[in-house]
Amino acid sequence: MSSIEEWTKEEAKRAFLFDRWGAGYFDVNPKGNLCVHPNKDPKNGIDINDVIEEMKEQKIAFPAVIRFQDVLRSRVIDLNETFKDAIEEAEYPGSYTAVYPIKVNQMREVVEEILEAGKPYNMGLEAGSKAELMSVLAYNRNPEALTILNGYKDNDYLRLALLGRKVGRKVLVVIEKMTELERLLDLSEKYEVSPLIGLRTKLSIKCAGKWADSGGERAKFGLSTTELIKAVEILKEREFLDCAKLLHFHLGSQITDIRNVKDAICEGARVYSKLVKMGVPLDYMDVGGGLGVDYDGTHSTNESSINYGNKEYASDVVDGIKQICEDENVPCPNIVSESGRAITAHHSCVITKVIGSIKTAQTDFETSEVEGEHILVTNIREAVEDLNKENFNEVYNDAKKIKDDAINAFKLGVIDLEEKAKIETLYWQATQKIDEMIDQIEFPSDDLSNLQDSLTSQYLCNFSVFQSAADSWAIGQLLPIMPVKRLNEKPNVWCSIADITCDSDGKIDNFIDLEEEAKNIPLHDLNPDEDYHVGIFLTGAYQDVMGDMHNLFGRLNEVHVYKDGDDGDFYIEEVIPGGKIKDVLMTMQYSPEFLSYRVKRIVDKEIADGKIRPREGVKWVDFYDSCLEEYTYLKT
Ligand SMILES: *Cc1c(COP(=O)(O)O)cnc(C)c1O
Repeated sequence: MSSIEEWTKEEAKRAFLFDRWGAGYFDVNPKGNLCVHPNKDPKNGIDINDVIEEMKEQKIAFPAVIRFQDVLRSRVIDLNETFKDAIEEAEYPGSYTAVYPIKVNQMREVVEEILEAGKPYNMGLEAGSKAELMSVLAYNRNPEALTILNGYKDNDYLRLALLGRKVGRKVLVVIEKMTELERLLDLSEKYEVSPLIGLRTKLSIKCAGKWADSGGERAKFGLSTTELIKAVEILKEREFLDCAKLLHFHLGSQITDIRNVKDAICEGARVYSKLVKMGVPLDYMDVGGGLGVDYDGTHSTNESSINYGNKEYASDVVDGIKQICEDENVPCPNIVSESGRAITAHHSCVITKVIGSIKTAQTDFETSEVEGEHILVTNIREAVEDLNKENFNEVYNDAKKIKDDAINAFKLGVIDLEEKAKIETLYWQATQKIDEMIDQIEFPSDDLSNLQDSLTSQYLCNFSVFQSAADSWAIGQLLPIMPVKRLNEKPNVWCSIADITCDSDGKIDNFIDLEEEAKNIPLHDLNPDEDYHVGIFLTGAYQDVMGDMHNLFGRLNEVHVYKDGDDGDFYIEEVIPGGKIKDVLMTMQYSPEFLSYRVKRIVDKEIADGKIRPREGVKWVDFYDSCLEEYTYLKT
């Protein structure tokens, strides 16, 4: 085993960039453990390893989601205060209200925490479907807070919105399509309710990034310029113009470049001003979501990054609207934004245990010469023995050729398994030696850099990418991944991450890096007598709720952690058990009782045939039944 080399916090920062993506919430303590600082206070963080130990004591199995509820609160307060400051600074004559779009993370506890923290700011909620609206109607009880309704709407959806109006809530129905408008007006007349109407405009600008298609002329949602004018005519004709209170647009999520925000505000504020001049009594301008998260910590326009912060975003929105309204000589609207990602991403992480490694380069097989061995074995052995700093490029090419020849020779029955194993071992021994030499060369050829990648291991982690890091698989989203302890010890294994699904896509081999995306991250040697946990961070937005059941790995165990005072203490307020095997089977229409009955019948038959003893048969059936109650992930 290699000796432990000490590592400074600065070195750990350089490798894992937690000071850059962490937004002030993450740091390493003197013990070398990763900590969460719920209020960004650099003192007294919650040691994540302590939380893991506490969870083990409470018999909560991993993988698990840890939610730091205080971080969620801090994000809510931060957004609201930042806008408040921007408004004060610009002497903006209107107000700011945040609404949380629950599609980003619909977990009840998340929504409750956001509403609770946002109470002083009258924070509202946004829904985009009937099911979301039904939860929002019950949970958004503050009569001052807004409820904003987006998405396509059938008559039941519209009627539910009118129910909200009936009980005195500020429910704004955002018209995404012309047909919704006439139906809303019909239903409002029928139920004698005065609706609050929002109009969603399609802006011409399309921004860079993964969600570019949410904007522009071909966007799925929103009214074109001609439709907007028609909508105003209809509202006038049917005497509902007084109800049109909000102009809405949404550029798409994770806007990476602040210039796109500026452009959108400029265009949106012009639309607002022109509508006001047409006599539409708008009170609000809703700038949608899109406020991004710096997942890779590069502060750039990379798809997983942003080149701005909350402060710049808020002042660009506020200043931009003010400037256009002054220019157009119309009153400034109250500003609404629908930030979901920026509020929820930081508060949750997935903790998974490394359960082993998959090594490509096997180098510990006996390769000594035997009588009558095949010439390929002799040749590669001699090539490797000759290896030195002058000829390694040549030796590498020779060794590769012999390894390829050996595969053909094996297929033709010319060499046996043992000889094939020897050739492979010698090949990997050569590459490993060459790898050490490459470090001393300034510009290794492409061939040789590929060699370095082929030598790295995969660390096998007890989780499913499809359940817990869906965006990493689906859209190549980068997420920060790092060990939660031993950060004062230099990691010496370069590796990527493999999950436990039977799917070759079930892996993570794109990692954050200041230069270009890295294929590997440095992790530590595994000690046989110590658990090694890796955290996947910034998973609170979308990832948390979009996971799928590939291979029937269900939802994770989850704990909600709160700080207890200000000295790094914490308590686990709530434990939400993840999916048991019987739960995930039921989602696929299996009845656990029937499965159990079937297996019992099968075993009974073996007993009747005298192949299994009755006492033993009962034990097997009991074991089967008890497994139905177990967690879907590996017990390690
Ligand atoms: C998805 C969505 C949001 C949330 O966007 P974020 O980038 O997560 O803040 C806001 N508004 C609408 C209409 C959306 O569809």
